[in-house]
Amino acid sequence: MLIAGRLIMDATTNPQPGWLRIEGDRIIDVEEGDPPSRPDVGGPDHVVTPGFVDCHLHFPQFDAIGVDGLPLLDWLKATVYPAEHAWRDPAWAQIQSQQAVRRLLREGTLGCAAYLTSHPHAIAAARHALGETPLRAIVGRVMMDREAPPDLCSTAADPEPWIEADRPDSRTQTAVTPRFAIACSDAMLARAGELAPGRFVQTHLGEQQAEIDRTLEFYPDDASYTAVYDRFGLLHERALLGHCVHLASDEWELLRRRRGVAVHCPQANIFLQSGLFDLDAAREHGVRVALGSDIAAGSDASMPRVARAMIETAKARRLTVAPKAAIPTPGEAWNMVTRDNAAALGYDDGGVLRPGAAADLLILRPPFDIDEHLIGRLLYNWSTDFIVHRVLAGRVVSDS
Ligand SMILES: [Zn+2]
Repeated sequence: MLIAGRLIMDATTNPQPGWLRIEGDRIIDVEEGDPPSRPDVGGPDHVVTPGFVDCHLHFPQFDAIGVDGLPLLDWLKATVYPAEHAWRDPAWAQIQSQQAVRRLLREGTLGCAAYLTSHPHAIAAARHALGETPLRAIVGRVMMDREAPPDLCSTAADPEPWIEADRPDSRTQTAVTPRFAIACSDAMLARAGELAPGRFVQTHLGEQQAEIDRTLEFYPDDASYTAVYDRFGLLHERALLGHCVHLASDEWELLRRRRGVAVHCPQANIFLQSGLFDLDAAREHGVRVALGSDIAAGSDASMPRVARAMIETAKARRLTVAPKAAIPTPGEAWNMVTRDNAAALGYDDGGVLRPGAAADLLILRPPFDIDEHLIGRLLYNWSTDFIVHRVLAGRVVSDS
């Protein structure tokens, strides 16, 4: 398949006209200039970008979007746990997984890391949906044994598996997924720590002050919230730590040493009034940062809009508490939701347009003239309607 258009190779430089060729599930050739023959897809007024990647969302929570006005711990009880309770029905879990996958595909998200529920059949439901539409995904059965409704709690000795062996040919992996330290006893975090080596770990960290206070009530002997996870062996280069809004300097330093990834969820942090993520602190401490929609605390699964919210958060910090806050450019933000997020999920061949890379990409046709402000115009005008084709594993797929 021959695809032509402005190629977003690195969004911090102005995309130039070019073409690429796909064979099987790989990009085999990428060149600037006119295509050698009539393209199968695209043309001069089209833009080709790697697909978006979302590093933090919850498949069962799409129906929970928009319940406003509650702090995190109350919002979980009022909204999230009832939505997750409904997954006790395996058929419903499968339907909702299919809806989540289709929604992501429609938004141009071709890779993700997602929390499921604590039900033993949750992974099978998600695998079924992901097998029909082979998004790349890291999914996790949520580990909880306290501070949640009893039917959503399990025990560290649960005989049902928390993770599955990864098949080399599968585009779905499973992650160790303790929800957060409040909902996990010592025994549950110890179980998670046993499973963690070599595996993706996803959990929440430092989202709201009340959450931090409650965590330290449960774990009074640990120096910090971050130190709790570290004591149980949960911090390593495959650890995806959602939020990281309220971290002290020693916690950032610990994350740097362990090579963990801070997953910034800017829309969720505004919606639940958690705070303004300190991108400067992450950068100063050399901590890797990825971006997530955090559906349903975040209300929008569109990663360009999440990227925009990251820029707006940095601007809000500069206007209020941090006059010298660095503001990411649109190009940096676009790179984050494509190649940087792909790298955070271990997709070394993803999020980029180059020979040998995975052919997971989008062909856009924006309704404005293409000029040197292309990336900014895409980001700030963004509509899913710009996506004319979604290419997944080398095949054009429908979003329905
Ligand atoms: Zn979350």
